[in-house]
Amino acid sequence: MNTANTDRRVEEVLLARAASDGDGVQLKRVFGGNNLERFDPFLMLDEFGSDKAADYIGGFPSHPHRGFETVTYMLEGLMEHRDHMGNVGLLQPGDVQWMKAGSGVIHSEMPKQEEGHMRGFQLWVNLPAAEKMTPATYNDIAADRIPGYTVAGAQIKAIAGELAINGTPVKGVVTGLSTDPGYLDIALTDDSELHVSVPENYTALVYIYEGNLTIGSGGFPLSKGHLARLSRGDKLVLKGSADTRVLVITGKPIGEPIVHYGPFVMNSPEQIHQAINDYNAGTLVASTSA
Ligand code: MN
Repeated sequence: MNTANTDRRVEEVLLARAASDGDGVQLKRVFGGNNLERFDPFLMLDEFGSDKAADYIGGFPSHPHRGFETVTYMLEGLMEHRDHMGNVGLLQPGDVQWMKAGSGVIHSEMPKQEEGHMRGFQLWVNLPAAEKMTPATYNDIAADRIPGYTVAGAQIKAIAGELAINGTPVKGVVTGLSTDPGYLDIALTDDSELHVSVPENYTALVYIYEGNLTIGSGGFPLSKGHLARLSRGDKLVLKGSADTRVLVITGKPIGEPIVHYGPFVMNSPEQIHQAINDYNAGTLVASTSA
């Protein structure tokens, strides 16, 4: 299908819903679960955020992952990561942690505060079969390393990818991955239209986490807490106001079977059984000191 010069329309709207994960952490699951092919190469987006310590204090004690990448983006608060490779990272406001679980990681993600506001996002990005069993890597990206761009009507933090907004090239910290993820945090500063250039066959998702937004030349309206999954096309038009903040997430679909079970995302049930057996046998990673 030729989708050049085609406006990306809103194909599906999801309302982030309350969920609990880790040790009783109250969060909002924006998407995830079953029928993930339509989000390919993405698997899940969570928003965590509360000013009540009881909602986050339990954190995410030691747990495994295999077969994909986790991307944590902090807006407010402090979170400490420890993993079996010996990495210790303190995530502060504006920081990003990009972790490739690959063949296996065991880590903990724990709040480093006992009160006050905590807010952020965790995105799961799938890996193609050829990379699922590659060694784990960990990339701690301090806020001051994340490029900021100002265009008419918006301020942009470019976490990943190479896109263009209103003709201005926007390049994130993380590039060169096989799924070519784009991950932008956009704060609108007025009601100017933003035109985001995304390769026409890529998946594109927009999550509104503050304010209101319209999408497409038809002006489909969305409010805080909603995710729009967009049709294919090469034109993405966003319009909001000075209090609107959105995540724009884009990526190249992998097109392989997705079998998701808890913290493991593989291509077949047999590979999931293997991951569970490896974890139980203590061989998911070389060392399990996290
Ligand atoms: Mn984790």
